[in-house]
Amino acid sequence: MATLLDKVWNLHSVRRLATGQTQLFIGLHLIHEVTTPQAFAMLRDRGLTPAFPERIFGTMDHIIPTGSLKRPTADPVAEAMIATLEKNCHEHHIPLFGLGDAHQGIVHVIGPEMGLTQPGMTIACGDSHTSTHGAFGALAFGIGTSQVRDVLASQCLAMDKPKLRRVRFEGEMGAGVTAKDLALAMIRQLGVNGGVGFAYEYAGDAIDRMTMDERMTLCNMSIEGGARMGYVNPDETTFAYLRGRAHAPSGEAWDRAVEWWRSLASDADSVADDECVVDVTRIAPLVTWGTNPGQSVAVNEPIPDPAGLPPGERDAALEALQFMGFESGQSVEGRRVDVAFIGSCTNARLSDLRAAADVVRGQRVATHVRGLVVAGSREVQRAAEREGLHTVFESAGFEWREPGCSLCLGMNDDKLSGAETCASSSNRNFRGRQGSPTGRTLLMSPAMVAAAAVAGKVVDVRRVVPRGGAVQ
Ligand code: SF4
Repeated sequence: MATLLDKVWNLHSVRRLATGQTQLFIGLHLIHEVTTPQAFAMLRDRGLTPAFPERIFGTMDHIIPTGSLKRPTADPVAEAMIATLEKNCHEHHIPLFGLGDAHQGIVHVIGPEMGLTQPGMTIACGDSHTSTHGAFGALAFGIGTSQVRDVLASQCLAMDKPKLRRVRFEGEMGAGVTAKDLALAMIRQLGVNGGVGFAYEYAGDAIDRMTMDERMTLCNMSIEGGARMGYVNPDETTFAYLRGRAHAPSGEAWDRAVEWWRSLASDADSVADDECVVDVTRIAPLVTWGTNPGQSVAVNEPIPDPAGLPPGERDAALEALQFMGFESGQSVEGRRVDVAFIGSCTNARLSDLRAAADVVRGQRVATHVRGLVVAGSREVQRAAEREGLHTVFESAGFEWREPGCSLCLGMNDDKLSGAETCASSSNRNFRGRQGSPTGRTLLMSPAMVAAAAVAGKVVDVRRVVPRGGAVQ
């Protein structure tokens, strides 16, 4: 009668601290170039070394260029961070998937694709979208720099156990509706702070039918709804994805692992602290109109009137409308876009690129739009190239760039300029998120971004005829 949260939490509890918190052992620590230089420096200052270097894996993603991989990089700050991570990993014998490495990519894309992410693990990383790994039935969450230091030093964290909300997604997804739309719909329903203090357990028949890529997209966005972690109970879909991956168990160990993983799923009669239902049949392709991921609307519906929103949300909605250049009652459909970004740890896996390529095949990006496709990892990039997807995108006028976080957070040269509007498959539409303080971000699914790139404005992807048809 226990939930996965209970089981995995208890298995990783070292002891109860005097503060009432749990000292939680971290099974897998993923690190990248931006949130580690200071953490390693603090460790060094105290004369410490990583306690379990074999449980740490590094990659480069946040600040790296997605154009030239030449070293030194054009940006000296990026070069310093890259060189520091190389030095720290080398010194402490930590495997690193560095610039140009065959396994380099966004930390939340490479963990699963190499089989590092496994059910029943506790996983921490200095990036809030670590919740992505929960798709495998892991307790995975983002941590700050001082916690990165703590995990490096002890492989443990002092944590409060969250409460559990079971979110049931019931019903079939309609045409043109994706896991991204389900995530945005959930955040709109439960609020951007609705998950604070909770872990989200995703259940229901719609989750059962989802692919691992779709589950990762949904779990990725947990944090945008305030839940630091979100997970799906491991099932046959999970095991089929992991089988044969580089770091997954093999031979007899595989059979033992599957049996063990299966036992970690929430018991059928386990009770969560809260439970709610998201009606999937009512979800249409969504687009954000505001400056947080909860401010979204179906592409074919009017933007809500702030006066009709709960009192605590009205002022923020008014400000967001003004910043974004929208008015209530207006539709997001038809909004001119300047940049189209297909990338990020939310939506830059092979299935995402395929979905976007299906929309742009045989089409051209509108002349006023700059289109970028940034694969989530080198493995995704290579697989896409084997299928010829890069040719589809390049023929349409998209830039086919090297893997990395890119325009998700605009720490490298991939930035919006001035008040440009960007149709983006990423996860955050906060002011300034894409590198320009006045840039405007419209979150949507990769297929919707592709359709917007071709039309030069937001359009309803359901009206777009795939594979060479006309974008209306
Ligand atoms: S793509 Fe964006 S959200 Fe994901 S790891 Fe990179 S910066 Fe973080």
